[in-house]
Amino acid sequence: MNKIIRQRTCRACRKKKDKKELLRLTILDKKILEVDPGQIKPGRGWYLCQEEACLFCLKAAKSRHKSFGRDLEIGPRLKNLLTNPPAGGDHGQN
Ligand SMILES: [Zn+2]
Repeated sequence: MNKIIRQRTCRACRKKKDKKELLRLTILDKKILEVDPGQIKPGRGWYLCQEEACLFCLKAAKSRHKSFGRDLEIGPRLKNLLTNPPAGGDHGQN
């Protein structure tokens, strides 16, 4: 097994960043888009910068593009993040 470069691309701005710097979103029960703070939940995951701009981009794009999960519901944690975006630099208590 080769070493995995733990970089992921932000779904919103397409910048590559260290996985730890990104927010992982996962799809629960095939219908709820939710934050995965531990980045360990199985299934398809999306990565997003923990920045207001990218969170806003997700919110805006979600209503237009199927690839952004137009049919998905937003989980409570993610909804909270979209409503109160991180101020930046703060990794929270997770
Ligand atoms: Zn981004």
